[in-house]
Amino acid sequence: MDNKQLSKLLTQQQKILSKIALGQSLSEIGEEICLAIEDILEDKSAKCSILSLTDKQLFHCAAPSLDQKYCEIINGVEIGPSVGSCGTAAYRNSRVIVDNISSSPLWADFKEVALTFGLESCWSTPIVSTKSQVLGTFAVYHSTPKKPSKQDLELIDYFVHFSSIALEKNSNAYQLKQAINELKNSNNKFKAFTQVMPDLALIISEQGEYVDVYGSSEDLLYYSMKEMKGCNLNDVLPSIDAQPIMTVIEKTLATNEIQIFEYELDVQKGHVIFEGRTASVEHYQSENSSSRHVLWVARDITQRKLAEKEIEKLAYYDPLTKLPNRRMLNERLAIVVEKIKRSGETGALLFLDIDNFKRLNDSLGHTSGDKLLVEVAKRLEAIIRKSDTLARLGGDEFVVLLEYIGHDNEQANIESATVAQKIHEIFDEEFKIDSLNFQMSCSIGICLIEGRDISSDNIMQFADTAMYRSKAKGGNNYSFYDPELQTLLDKKIELETEILKSIKDEEFCAYFQPQVNIEGKVIGAEALIRWTHPVKGIIPPCEFIPIAEQFGLIQRLQNIVLKDICKLLNNISSDLLCEDFKVSINISPSQFKSSSLKTELLNILHHFKINSSRITLEITESMLAHDVEHAVQQMKELKSEGFTFSIDDFGTGYSCLTYLHAYPVKELKIDKSFIDRIDEESGLNIVKTIINLARNLKIKAIAEGVETKEQFEILKHCNIDSIQGYFFAKPMPMNEYLTWHKEVSLP
Ligand code: C2E
Ligand code: CA
Ligand code: CA
Repeated sequence: MDNKQLSKLLTQQQKILSKIALGQSLSEIGEEICLAIEDILEDKSAKCSILSLTDKQLFHCAAPSLDQKYCEIINGVEIGPSVGSCGTAAYRNSRVIVDNISSSPLWADFKEVALTFGLESCWSTPIVSTKSQVLGTFAVYHSTPKKPSKQDLELIDYFVHFSSIALEKNSNAYQLKQAINELKNSNNKFKAFTQVMPDLALIISEQGEYVDVYGSSEDLLYYSMKEMKGCNLNDVLPSIDAQPIMTVIEKTLATNEIQIFEYELDVQKGHVIFEGRTASVEHYQSENSSSRHVLWVARDITQRKLAEKEIEKLAYYDPLTKLPNRRMLNERLAIVVEKIKRSGETGALLFLDIDNFKRLNDSLGHTSGDKLLVEVAKRLEAIIRKSDTLARLGGDEFVVLLEYIGHDNEQANIESATVAQKIHEIFDEEFKIDSLNFQMSCSIGICLIEGRDISSDNIMQFADTAMYRSKAKGGNNYSFYDPELQTLLDKKIELETEILKSIKDEEFCAYFQPQVNIEGKVIGAEALIRWTHPVKGIIPPCEFIPIAEQFGLIQRLQNIVLKDICKLLNNISSDLLCEDFKVSINISPSQFKSSSLKTELLNILHHFKINSSRITLEITESMLAHDVEHAVQQMKELKSEGFTFSIDDFGTGYSCLTYLHAYPVKELKIDKSFIDRIDEESGLNIVKTIINLARNLKIKAIAEGVETKEQFEILKHCNIDSIQGYFFAKPMPMNEYLTWHKEVSLP
């Protein structure tokens, strides 16, 4: 190579390198390489081309001096063991020198084209990457048969090296571009998918942060997607909703299993029932690879759920009254029966049938009949507890299933009879149908659900039989299936009638039993009701108080007692009536619940001009245990009127000791059963404990049922405040009490 050639070479080299460095296109660089070598080679008829290899096919990158048509014809040729010079060189990964195309077997298939374009020799060198991969070929054509010199080959190798750099760089860039394109493509697909997807897809971090939110239904979210991103669900959702969602996230991450569950939220769209599916996602954020995420897909299934409910309604509810139908009742009854078999508790089934419904239906038509049934259903619903089932079996037959009405037969009997009475009461008011008024009634049959060998079928049948017994009695009645219970009920009804008559005949009055302090000073008396029956003699309160309570007569009896208390107080001469003398009256549970208790008491006291501060109301622990809020309210109101409270039978009820301090109580009355056992250690301990408790609450302790001097001495020793019992005096009629009072009070 002479100096001139060398300097050309260096100039070309620089040009090519800078083009490569500047990242110019492959064809531009390729053309530069081809022209450079054509210029430097001695034979000026040389025509160069650079082909690149993609998937076993060769494509022209640059061939500035070759005929464009020739290039087009051989473009894309597949490489192989005898595919001209280039196809073969790329295939073999070694140089192929064909000095005479017309005689070369490698060119057998292509020589005609080459000769047409005046190409007679072709030297091809594979262009190989740094990783020894064939990237393409470099070819030098001549218009006459020709062999390369050693210098020609060196020169070619020199430029093939540049071609390799250019092609490799291009292929890397190409691959990157390809990857970016693919990514863009898949991103576009994902976007298109999530833009139409009705479900929500949320990416939530372990800590509850909304990292990404996808989906087309933004109204299923609390806020817009933009606003949600970056928020923590614990801040967005009410804690009652956030808590279970966090639990699901924790479970998903802990188990690595897909979770499927239902939940409900009040979102922009309104109240929505969702089906959620979660899966854990590893390495969601490359910049924060240690944090873990959950993919949360939420589907709105509100409509489906409503449809399901609708279907259930059709199957389980009566379309007219919307009450459970026979099918639902049977299922519930089966459950109740099983429960009762296990628990040993008692339930009841009441079968009711409207009296003379058929007559009304026939004369007024079905539409009016239907209206009546709807109204009956409405009134019944209003008196049924949530835990009980009210069902319509069809026609005018309804069933009330009471799941739990007590531990024993006796209590169940009272409870179910009370419910039957309440049902009868809903018929007290006339039914107004199409501007006509009707007085209706119903017949009820009751079957208690108890014991181990009961069956649903029997219960329905027994209640039905009992209902017919009520019909046979002329309707507007209730009957038990069990003959023993029926006798009991008949007796009660008889007694109720008798009580009513006796109130009129003034057979009730109050007796008074004194209460004294340890010095023997009279500090009060308890009023106890007595029924002096003209035939049966004195009937003890335990025999009629529960019935009076059940039949709603207790208030009338109580008024008799309170009037007697007033008369007594007005009959004790003022000099014998010490300032803190009080009379106790027993208050029954239903009275205590009643909102009119205060007025009832005050009306009588005002009439007799007696101050409320003279009256102590005795209530039991169990009355306080039921509805604490109401109890406190009721007591506070009465206390503000001047009444005081004593807790009767203390120690026997559910001790609601925790609340005791909240009640405005003056006194604890230790139950007689503990006084009976005061000579035993256990009894004594209980008495001591109660007295201690009273001391702590800064209230008084009184012992009832004190019968002996021994009991009195022990109680005195225990620091009791006061005492009531036969040891001092039995309950006495008013006049007898007044005499007694005078005797003990006079100095
Ligand atoms: P209670 O409130 O615990 O009344 C105390 C009962 O013990 C009274 O029975 C009383 O006569 C009796 N007693 C008092 N001292 C002794 C004693 O030393 N030995 C014995 N063995 N008994 C004694 P009574 O009058 O038969 O009343 C029974 C229950 O009937 C009362 O228990 C109370 O719960 C209820 N009662 C009585 N009168 C009324 C009333 O006017 N209204 C209400 N709602 N219930 C009443
Ligand atoms: Ca009492
Ligand atoms: Ca008592």
